[in-house]
Amino acid sequence: MLEARAGTTHEVSNQPPPLTDYNVYTADAPLVESVRREGAEWDEARISAIGELAGSERLRALGVQANENPPKLRTHDRFGNRVDEAEFHPAWHELLGVAVEHELHSSPWKEPRPGAHVARGAAFMCMSQAEAGIGCPISMTYSVIPALRTQPQLAAEWEPRFLSNSYDPRNTPAPNKEGALAGMGMTEKQGGTDVRANTTVARPVTGGGPGAEYELTGHKWFMSAPMCDAFLVLAQAGGGISCFLFPRWTPDGERNRFRLQRLKDKLGNRSNASSEIEFDAASAWLVGEEGAGVRTIIEMVNHTRLDCVLGGATGMRAGVAQAIHHDSHRKVFGTLLSEQPLMRNVLADLCVESEAATISALRLARAYDEALAGDEEAQHLKRIANAVLKYWICKRAPMHAGEALECLGGNGYVEESGMPRLFRESPLNSIWEGSGNVQCLDVLRAMIKEPASLDAYFAEVAEGAVADPRLDAYAKTLREETPGDLATIETRARRVVEKMALALQGSLLVRHGDPAVADAFCASRLTGDWGQAFGTLPAGVDFARIIARHAPISG
Ligand SMILES: Cc1cc2nc3c(=O)[nH]c(=O)nc-3n(C[C@H](O)[C@H](O)[C@H](O)COP(=O)(O)OP(=O)(O)OC[C@H]3O[C@@H](n4cnc5c(N)ncnc54)[C@H](O)[C@@H]3O)c2cc1C
Repeated sequence: MLEARAGTTHEVSNQPPPLTDYNVYTADAPLVESVRREGAEWDEARISAIGELAGSERLRALGVQANENPPKLRTHDRFGNRVDEAEFHPAWHELLGVAVEHELHSSPWKEPRPGAHVARGAAFMCMSQAEAGIGCPISMTYSVIPALRTQPQLAAEWEPRFLSNSYDPRNTPAPNKEGALAGMGMTEKQGGTDVRANTTVARPVTGGGPGAEYELTGHKWFMSAPMCDAFLVLAQAGGGISCFLFPRWTPDGERNRFRLQRLKDKLGNRSNASSEIEFDAASAWLVGEEGAGVRTIIEMVNHTRLDCVLGGATGMRAGVAQAIHHDSHRKVFGTLLSEQPLMRNVLADLCVESEAATISALRLARAYDEALAGDEEAQHLKRIANAVLKYWICKRAPMHAGEALECLGGNGYVEESGMPRLFRESPLNSIWEGSGNVQCLDVLRAMIKEPASLDAYFAEVAEGAVADPRLDAYAKTLREETPGDLATIETRARRVVEKMALALQGSLLVRHGDPAVADAFCASRLTGDWGQAFGTLPAGVDFARIIARHAPISG
């Protein structure tokens, strides 16, 4: 307990020490176990190095600074020339530099091997605990590669830049830079989910066709990280909605013809810039066939969706760490909060949710590794599990963050605790890359159009069901109602997908989680001995064990 003098009026007491200078990786048992189980043990040295950095006072302070000093729009230079730049605080550059240097945007493509996406996912989870905003350009640069490879000559030119581990923040033509970052522009004013409603027009400069140059005229309503060097964007070409690579600079070294109109004033994610832009006959190059835009860019979206799942799990872990730390140092009525029965129920329930999120997110990352290596079963599982988990983990994140915040009492509502920032960030992963309902509808699409994905999902659930009769019973009922009555399936989609997420998480927990966590999960989430808020686990749960397992600093 800190005992320090605050002026002459009183002693400061019963306040926790700051939670800093600890390794966010090695302190996270479910994450460490998942990394080893899912095939990424070989990369633990790198993940742990990032975990050490992310928990350091230096990076924490940079995260605070980057959020307190959000990017500013600079449309013109002092002579009146358009520059269309977002100016970032040095703390942002330093954080992004750390992420790039540690290859969070590139490692699975540079060194494809079993566990590569798991390793990168775990490292991404660690880094995001220092600051989540940089995850946006990191994730988009990581995700652009498979979509870009649709057009080999564009990939040959851009891939080495995107895979470089040098962070080069200069706004200058990409061939002059040591490394480049990628963004994505799909959403327009009249539709984000419905990208087929895009009105941005693409006209071929010469004959058109895959890899050829077009001119884009129109706008994007959300385009994050506008300082990126190139973006995949959707626009209407003669053959329909198509995917283009749009660079900031043209090959002849001129500023490309686009304008940054505004930066969004956002709820959270404030260190990162999200812009509105207009294209005025901007140069762009067709990726894939005309009319195949959605099919092409979905390769990118599928990877950013994985990062949304990882991001949701990260927020939960960060909340759990702060809540346990605070309540392990704060006494109320003479007893530590972490030892009071009702608070132990709240903390343990948050831990259960966090562990379920972490192990399912990393299991999903393994499905990416295996699917890319040609494993069909993994491809089917990834297809459906990504949408299931994105829906549920991201949907749970704001409730989880709100409850974790309350574990710190009034301190949790105050900015310098970091909890308001965590809370503001928490709804974003659910909106990004297809919001909650869109994920549910995607699950339905998968189960109806690709029934093998549903079979792969139930095969994964069944592996755990043999070990726990509660899960077995839950899975059997779920199987009967999935998809069930097709006339009502859309109306029921959220309930079905929620149950699918719980059965999948349950299956992973009974096989791989801590037994006390698995037991609490099955008792509450699967058999219904649970309330509507966190902190409503049944009395028989081993609360002390669960909390000790999740404590960021043991002892
Ligand atoms: C901070 C931030 C950064 C962003 N950055 C980018 C970016 O870099 N690039 C980019 O392209 N986009 C970006 N977006 C946009 C984001 O991807 C979209 O906002 C999101 O996909 C939702 O689209 P929308 O806003 O048009 O909402 P809408 O499509 O209008 O959807 C509104 C609501 O309706 C629901 N809904 C949609 N269809 C159905 C249906 N058939 N049945 C039931 N419910 C439905 C959705 O789930 C959603 O909840 C960003 C958004 C934010 C908030």
